[in-house]
Amino acid sequence: MTTGKINVSVENIFPLIKKFLYSDHEIFLRELVSNATDATLKLKHLTSIGEAKVEYGNPIIEVKIDKEGKKLHIIDQGLGMTADEVEKYINQVAFSGAEEFLEKYKDSAKDSGIIGHFGLGFYSAFMVAEKVEIITKSFKDEPAAHWTCDGSPEFTLVAHDKTERGTEIILHIAEDSLDFLEEFKIRELLTKYNKFMPVPIKFGTKKEALPKPDDAPEDYKTEYIDIDNIINNPNPAWTKQPVDLTDEDYKNFYRELYPMQFEEPLFNIHLNVDYPFNLTGILYFPKMSGDLQLQKDKIQLYQNQVFVTDNVEGIVPEFLGMLKGVIDSPDIPLNVSRSYLQADGNVKKISNYITRKVADKLKSLFNENREDFEQKWNDIKIVLEYGMLSEPKFYEKAGDFVLYPTVDNKYYTLAELKDAITANQTDKNGKLVVLYASNKDAQHSYIEIAKEKGYEVLLLDSPIVSHLIQKLEADNENLTFTRVDSDHIDKLIQKEETQISKLSEEESTQLKTVLEEIVPKTTYSVQLEPMDSNASPFIITQPEFMRRMKEMSQTGGGG
Ligand code: ADP
Ligand code: MG
Repeated sequence: MTTGKINVSVENIFPLIKKFLYSDHEIFLRELVSNATDATLKLKHLTSIGEAKVEYGNPIIEVKIDKEGKKLHIIDQGLGMTADEVEKYINQVAFSGAEEFLEKYKDSAKDSGIIGHFGLGFYSAFMVAEKVEIITKSFKDEPAAHWTCDGSPEFTLVAHDKTERGTEIILHIAEDSLDFLEEFKIRELLTKYNKFMPVPIKFGTKKEALPKPDDAPEDYKTEYIDIDNIINNPNPAWTKQPVDLTDEDYKNFYRELYPMQFEEPLFNIHLNVDYPFNLTGILYFPKMSGDLQLQKDKIQLYQNQVFVTDNVEGIVPEFLGMLKGVIDSPDIPLNVSRSYLQADGNVKKISNYITRKVADKLKSLFNENREDFEQKWNDIKIVLEYGMLSEPKFYEKAGDFVLYPTVDNKYYTLAELKDAITANQTDKNGKLVVLYASNKDAQHSYIEIAKEKGYEVLLLDSPIVSHLIQKLEADNENLTFTRVDSDHIDKLIQKEETQISKLSEEESTQLKTVLEEIVPKTTYSVQLEPMDSNASPFIITQPEFMRRMKEMSQTGGGG
């Protein structure tokens, strides 16, 4: 028998990385810009605690295409690496310098926004490059280093004469990835992943008009200069405190997030929590519309200002899927399967937190300006009704703000509705009967009849309303919902038998004529009762019949 050790050779790793590490090759740029950002933020931290005695200045990151040389450059002015550090951080695959840094500066650096933590990001460069160079000069007083690797386990590491602090990564783009030398492609990727990263990112230059001098001649021609084209906003709204933001700021940020979206959001919810997990973000309730663009715009998930995905399934409760905005959390495990996500305790907590926050916001909007809230109801009801059905935590809170509009645009909360109908909408079992219509026009005549009887008729027209009704009935024993045009309305009207109907005199006469003329008395037993003193001529004990009569009289009789 022989025993031995399976030898996992580094040689096998590169093809693996290239094929399987990330399904999306394009994320290499996100990873390299993230590393450049980390390097800058680390330097910022070290200068702030006095460990790096250099001028921090206003560092930027530059992304540059060299189309002829088939190279892509990512250049930062961060802390750089010494030759020893290159050995340590780059040559050890899956050793994360970011994690080590955070471990070392645990207390002071926990809010530094450092991104990396798998120690694999750098190698994603080999998904698109046949050769990668690193030219790096540490902030420490040591010579610069030049590392080169062609994707095999062999590398070279030599000294370099670079004098400015920072790191330049040079990708020799592989033949099958030449797309990444196209300006539009790189701009697209930078806008997708790096639009809100915390260090300014330069990509090319742009023209800017010089201000017109006061003593400009008549034929003055505007002069332009080239300035850095910075593609990102390093301080997006969600990273700020709500007190520092105006309504306008929130709206502007919405536009920044969705430049193609011209409809304004209805309101926003600023999320901000740091215990027991970290999460910030801004969610927007959009105006519901058939706008395809709007449906395409989704909630975006960020991690330390780096775009991760716009698939927030499992993290944001499903019923909020229609909302827009951003969520940023370093505590959401990435690059893991969705089923794992769903089982992760943190993720469930995040989802619950978002639900609670949305409910709280709705409640305060309702309390602060009910009229405004009522006006928005039509746009938000679908989300809220769905939330009541799908999230017990949301359902618990919904009583505070979920509205039940009537056909006359009156808006009741459930409690108010119960109060309003207690007096005369009870059936013989003592249950409150909620009358509702789903289509004002189609059910117009039934609605009119009910209204004449002094009943409240709700207008419940969302597609999931039957489910909602079931739930409300199940949870409110003394409540029963009845469609205004259903036969069951009899239940209610039977109880009202002794009441006088409220037809106008003209209507009464009309109805009476119709009754007398066209009703085959042999088929229907119509009972006319004596007229009351206040002009209410008769009571009909067959509501279904009366309804038809009423309809006939409205359409001018006949049949
Ligand atoms: P991670 O970012 O998860 O730590 P990476 O594979 O992306 O892992 O990078 C490995 C390490 O290499 C980093 O942690 C960092 O120490 C070092 N590194 C990578 N890029 C740079 C850079 N531009 N400047 C300084 N150090 C860098
Ligand atoms: Mg990294």
